[in-house]
Amino acid sequence: MSGKKIKLAVGIGSTCEGCSVAILDLNEKILDLARLADIVYWVLALDFKLSDLEKFQEKEIDISLHHGTIRTSEHVHIAHLLREKSKALIAFGSCSCFGGIPGLCNVTNREEIFRVVYQETPSTINPGAIIPQTQIRQNGHDLTLPELHNEGRALHQVVDVDYYLPGCPPAVELIEKLIPIIKNFLETGNLPPQGTVIASEKTLCDECPLERQNKMIDKIVRPHKIIPDPKRCLLEQGILCLGPATRGGCGTKCINVLMPCRGCMGPTADVSDQGAKMIGAIASILGVEKEKDLSDAEVEKIIDQIKDPLGTFYRFTLPVASINKTFHEKGVK
Ligand code: SF4
Ligand code: SF4
Ligand code: SF4
Repeated sequence: MSGKKIKLAVGIGSTCEGCSVAILDLNEKILDLARLADIVYWVLALDFKLSDLEKFQEKEIDISLHHGTIRTSEHVHIAHLLREKSKALIAFGSCSCFGGIPGLCNVTNREEIFRVVYQETPSTINPGAIIPQTQIRQNGHDLTLPELHNEGRALHQVVDVDYYLPGCPPAVELIEKLIPIIKNFLETGNLPPQGTVIASEKTLCDECPLERQNKMIDKIVRPHKIIPDPKRCLLEQGILCLGPATRGGCGTKCINVLMPCRGCMGPTADVSDQGAKMIGAIASILGVEKEKDLSDAEVEKIIDQIKDPLGTFYRFTLPVASINKTFHEKGVK
């Protein structure tokens, strides 16, 4: 393929477009990307239509990036198109890799969302209780519109995915790693092994510059309530930091400004459920595993200090977590 450029597409699900902006954040390195790749579909960057993507032959696109959560029938259609038309498909960003923040919708369902948003919010005036429809008639034509699904899903829960590049949004240092991958593909036709996660194999704690002293804590404090020691591990100062359960590779971005990790790189290489792993780490540092020494009231008091446990432990990964099944079994679907 030497001398040629690859065809690169960027497709989306439910997205804030932060992932697209992160690609633009390559700054002058985007010129390296432009030397290697022709952008053949990317709605944020140029005036592409879905019909442009639909026209490609099977596997005609070399590499596609996908960002956003799969939330509607149109997102499913785009995911299948990208899979069919691309030689390699990369889940790009936490929404695509794990379901991301929009995946927190799985604690509720479409009916509840429509009821609250279109009928119950204080500013809503909707006497006919009208909710979004999928079949409408406009200018004499019958139209089918995208349907909101009950569930938010990661890309691999809908189609086969070749590679994962996590982060919310992915760090520029990780996006830059795509450039040699594309260059090697152009020169040799080879791509990394399927399933490769373009990030670190270590945990965030392994890459963290702050000092750990293996100290236990007796309470959890919210980040805005203390001025932390800038040299010591935040978790050992009582601030909930998801470093032990989170994959490294982001450059410890939040820690560098003394903010705790929220877990956007997703689970570490050796665990699948990031939240469960973190709950175990918290229990250990709080001494809850020795709870026979603590009274029920004491254990409860410790756990009660964690505000919004679901949003804390599964902020980016609820759709791929074991607990997601519990919501389904309870009929939240
Ligand atoms: S991963 Fe983060 S930046 Fe990317 S689309 Fe999702 S919310 Fe936005
Ligand atoms: S818990 Fe957080 S602050 Fe502590 S070492 Fe791990 S990443 Fe660093
Ligand atoms: S420190 Fe944690 S939340 Fe912050 S960018 Fe890195 S993985 Fe994401």
